[in-house]
Amino acid sequence: MDTTSAVPRSLATEAVHAGREDLAALGLHAAPLDLSTTYPSHDSRAEAARLDEFAQTGARLQGPPVYARLDNPTVARFEEALARLEGTESAVAFASGMAALTAVLLARSAEGLRHVVAVRPLYGCSDHLLNSGLLGTEVTWTDPAGLAAAIRPDTGLVMVESPANPTLAELDLAALAESCGSVPLLADNTFATPVLQRPAETGARIVLHSATKYLGGHGDVMGGIVACDEEFARRLRQIRFATGGVLHPLAGYLLLRGLSTLPVRVRAQSATAAELARRLAADPRVSRVHYPRIGGAMVAFEVGEDPHQVISGVRLITPAVSLGSVDTLIQHPASISHRIVAENDRHTGGISENLLRMSVGLEDVEDLWRDLDAALSAGRRRPDAPGREPLAERVAP
Ligand SMILES: *Cc1c(COP(=O)(O)O)cnc(C)c1O
Repeated sequence: MDTTSAVPRSLATEAVHAGREDLAALGLHAAPLDLSTTYPSHDSRAEAARLDEFAQTGARLQGPPVYARLDNPTVARFEEALARLEGTESAVAFASGMAALTAVLLARSAEGLRHVVAVRPLYGCSDHLLNSGLLGTEVTWTDPAGLAAAIRPDTGLVMVESPANPTLAELDLAALAESCGSVPLLADNTFATPVLQRPAETGARIVLHSATKYLGGHGDVMGGIVACDEEFARRLRQIRFATGGVLHPLAGYLLLRGLSTLPVRVRAQSATAAELARRLAADPRVSRVHYPRIGGAMVAFEVGEDPHQVISGVRLITPAVSLGSVDTLIQHPASISHRIVAENDRHTGGISENLLRMSVGLEDVEDLWRDLDAALSAGRRRPDAPGREPLAERVAP
């Protein structure tokens, strides 16, 4: 596949062409979906040499694939496309965002660098994976100002999210990269996507995505991906081969298709989110609104009254965890996405009991506002007052 184009192309163009440049020559238009787990090979001497090469270097296999845990052509197209969108040399895809983070941590631990410095808040399960020591890592939590001082000789990684899940707190990634010195900075770019921010350009060596969110974009595919330099990608491929957290080819196919509309979706959803954030900020029922300076389709807000009533009061908006889909979702982080984080640690990260996190979709802004407005009133109502009919009564025949 021709991975280098002489003239730099815009993100919108890359989104629909990267990873697909060879298709016309193959007589194809849509990317082929290769579901093979194994491939015929009559020359086992040559295969032995190729496998030795992979075991030693972690470089992508040249020639036909061998086995699906090693390499898959459909997934490779998604990897190529995402690397181009993030402006990195390479990208390595995994079964989920958590599988991707696990591979990064294992790669660093294998070098004897088990210590991680991290800034809260992080996605709930990322916080848990670091804090629980499940992988034998040790974590020091710090604020950005304390980062340089928290780094030790055995620090293998600095991990941050910006905008962070779920508070949408933003960090100065360039300044953080400075403080990291030679320790790689991992920026989880799930919320911003390369449409709004390309952390590799400001010094992050590792860019992580839960592809389950905006990259897929339709709430029907789970995946994770790490965009990085080729040297680190080689370590990740060796770990993926040995531990097996591969992305399924059908997921790779759907994610590549998702990337085609990523810029359009993110811009449209962000415009609606910005308008909803503006209306929420002016609303007396809302005590605080968090909306990032760089924009985006996520809005977090704190309500004066019962946040659970708002969740049960939505009708058009789906009360569900996750984000990045074409339809709008709302959830209560302290109950769901960040439940696994201890209460004290949630508070350190700014995740209050009254915080709601909304992932804005492609619906019409007025329809969304009408639903939100009614749900906020449901949140204010006294239990004995007449209110929004329970959903069951509305949908019953
Ligand atoms: C969802 C999420 C993850 C985890 O990804 P999965 O695909 O669910 O494993 C990691 N980081 C952020 C910011 C997320 O929102």
